[in-house]
Amino acid sequence: MRRFVSHVIAATLALAACAAVAAPLATVRVDYAHSGNALQDGYALERVVIEPLPWPGSSARTIDATNRGQNRVEVVDAKTGDLLYSRGFSTIFGEWRSTEEASKISRSFQESVRFPKFERPVRVRILERDERNEFSVAWSIEIDTDAPDVVKRQPAAPAPLIPIHVSGPSPDKVDLLIMGDGYTAADMPKFEREARRLTRHLFSVSPFRERASSFNVWALAVPTSESGISRPSTGVHRASQLGTRYDIFGSERYVLTLDNRALRDIAQHAPYEFIEILVNNETYGGGGIFGQFSTAAAGNEWASYLFVHEFGHHFAGLADEYYTSPVAYAAASARMEPWEPNVTALRDPASVKWQRHVKAGTPLPTPWPKAQYETASRTYQARRAALRAANRPESEMNALFREDLRATQALFAGKPHRHAVGAFEGANYEASGYYRPTMQCLMFDRSDAFCPVCQDGITDIIDLYAGPARQ
Ligand SMILES: [Zn+2]
Repeated sequence: MRRFVSHVIAATLALAACAAVAAPLATVRVDYAHSGNALQDGYALERVVIEPLPWPGSSARTIDATNRGQNRVEVVDAKTGDLLYSRGFSTIFGEWRSTEEASKISRSFQESVRFPKFERPVRVRILERDERNEFSVAWSIEIDTDAPDVVKRQPAAPAPLIPIHVSGPSPDKVDLLIMGDGYTAADMPKFEREARRLTRHLFSVSPFRERASSFNVWALAVPTSESGISRPSTGVHRASQLGTRYDIFGSERYVLTLDNRALRDIAQHAPYEFIEILVNNETYGGGGIFGQFSTAAAGNEWASYLFVHEFGHHFAGLADEYYTSPVAYAAASARMEPWEPNVTALRDPASVKWQRHVKAGTPLPTPWPKAQYETASRTYQARRAALRAANRPESEMNALFREDLRATQALFAGKPHRHAVGAFEGANYEASGYYRPTMQCLMFDRSDAFCPVCQDGITDIIDLYAGPARQ
């Protein structure tokens, strides 16, 4: 443990050294409640917090022009209206809204936005996509970060911060925080091993591989009294630190925490812009929300894949390119062009948004063995559901996943357009009307590489936080 402490002190001194050059801005967090149902929603302020650590972001790249996310936060000068800071994001409320439950009851979710402290009163605006997929203001509130009721003192860090991969001062880097949930004090060496192993894997996958020096990776876990997190569908309930659990919105493999306050109160003790939570479980599962956090079952045989796939959602707002697995969401009635960079409704094939990757002569839509894939997929999904229903050992599920991946590789091998970028129908949980850029991608199945379009989508976000790669 002492080793970690000395590393942290060194890292803190490095931060302080860069602070001597340009005074660091404080980090403001606005905690609010977001409530409603399928038809309406509303916002209410909970509290304003000055976090213990300085703003980890760049003071040069404050405006987000990537147009990602279901929402956007804008911080403007309260007097002049000048835009000072913006970021796209999505929310758990936004996902819950598309479940059946939201047509029956109202629920409330805690959310937070974070931004650097400006030396003037600001107005914070939360924007939502409208029916044309354009942003309009849903909530606007003036925030005086010097007001007496702003929380300015925080408790000491509840656990040591472990530097995993430190490339330079936080404002020049993407800061990824790996958090652990369901790890006891005795499990802590295991948590660190898994955080290091999954970080190495992340930096073996393009474009993270080429951009590893644009990242800092930190790890932080507060011990729990029992190993593992809740999995209510099997009667397992645990009081974990972050409240992470399986069975979110009735989907057995969907792992999230709905306890945003618990998450933020621990995370604030690390410099972070992105969070991936490792859960100390063997059962396959994960989740990822753009701009919030992602999760992965670190004890699962497929943990490396889960870690990168879910991070793709969280980091770059990538859509799922698969469509044959059951998901928690009801189908949207209209086929709008999705904002996600890697799926399209293909309303105008001549100007598909990833056109720069499409070689002349590639047919759009692009033919692929769709019917055969769907037949095989139905059989596979039925076997998968039967294994879960019978609560069979995880090794049987892992073997089924390996078999499924091999079968898909065999089906696609040698087919025309196997490695082309085009528009392949079937994506975003829909068999028709949505198209993905390539036959296979890490966002489509458990294969091991992102398609060129997903790679672009990730690179845009690395550049937003760390600046363009040096040539
Ligand atoms: Zn892709």
